[in-house]
Amino acid sequence: MGGTSEGRQLAEILAGDPGYAPLLSFAGRTASLQAPRAPYRVGGFGGVAGLAEFLRAERPVALIDATHPFAAQMSSHAVLAAQLTATPLLRVECPAWRAAPGDRWTNVADMPAAAAALGERPRRVFLSVGRLEIDAFRAAPQHDYLVRAVDEFVPGLPRARVLAARGPFEAPAERELLERERIEVVVSKNAGTPATYAKILAARSLGLPVILVARPLLPPAETVDSFAPALAWLAALARGAGDDGGAHRASDHTAREPRGV
Ligand code: NAP
Repeated sequence: MGGTSEGRQLAEILAGDPGYAPLLSFAGRTASLQAPRAPYRVGGFGGVAGLAEFLRAERPVALIDATHPFAAQMSSHAVLAAQLTATPLLRVECPAWRAAPGDRWTNVADMPAAAAALGERPRRVFLSVGRLEIDAFRAAPQHDYLVRAVDEFVPGLPRARVLAARGPFEAPAERELLERERIEVVVSKNAGTPATYAKILAARSLGLPVILVARPLLPPAETVDSFAPALAWLAALARGAGDDGGAHRASDHTAREPRGV
């Protein structure tokens, strides 16, 4: 389950290995999906029951949750569906960013708290949040917002513009953007991924404050922090599942097929 740079990387590496048959799943939120160099599917599964049914039908050797740390519903469904179907589950989740010298962070619990933390005085805000999260900022319409999101959308705020762009982003370009737009404060989720860290670096180098939204709580699951240990986990799982010495689908020990993931 993807929707992140890490999920894409992992699926593409596995697709290049004849021992694996990965299938990368996207929610289908973005208008212009960038096709990965790996087999993929698009769209929700239909809740926990739908995902469990999918796993029973496909019988993958493992389910890997490489969704964004803020995709809490999908991660919860993964835990429940994996339990229901006895499918090994691994979560790939970058550690949260931690403040470094020079960072001026205000940590908040959620988007409404981020909107409140902007204060009364109108400010120029770089809002790095998605279309579905913009609603919280209607409570603070006095600010000028530059909203960066993957797709263009109508923000429904009097003083907001949308900048449609897809990461990964580089720090020099981020710094140039913040300067050109005379941004006074950055609002971001604590995504933890290197792909979107450049805005944090840029804010630090300009001495700008950042309002950082904490991650939602997820149910416990075995977790690794990047795709490299995920590959090692899969290799160990495949070794444990295999008894014929050849590539196979773990759920079908007699078939000489690539391992489904
Ligand atoms: P969410 O609230 O956790 O999930 C809502 C529903 O979307 C899920 O119940 C599921 O529908 C479907 N879904 C989510 N991820 C899916 C996937 N990888 N494959 C198939 N169906 C999926 O998720 P979200 O926050 O809307 O995020 C949607 C996608 O965007 C995720 O894949 C995530 O990795 C990516 N993303 C999210 C953020 C963020 O800040 N939330 C940022 C960057 C990327 P069903 O119940 O019908 O199965």
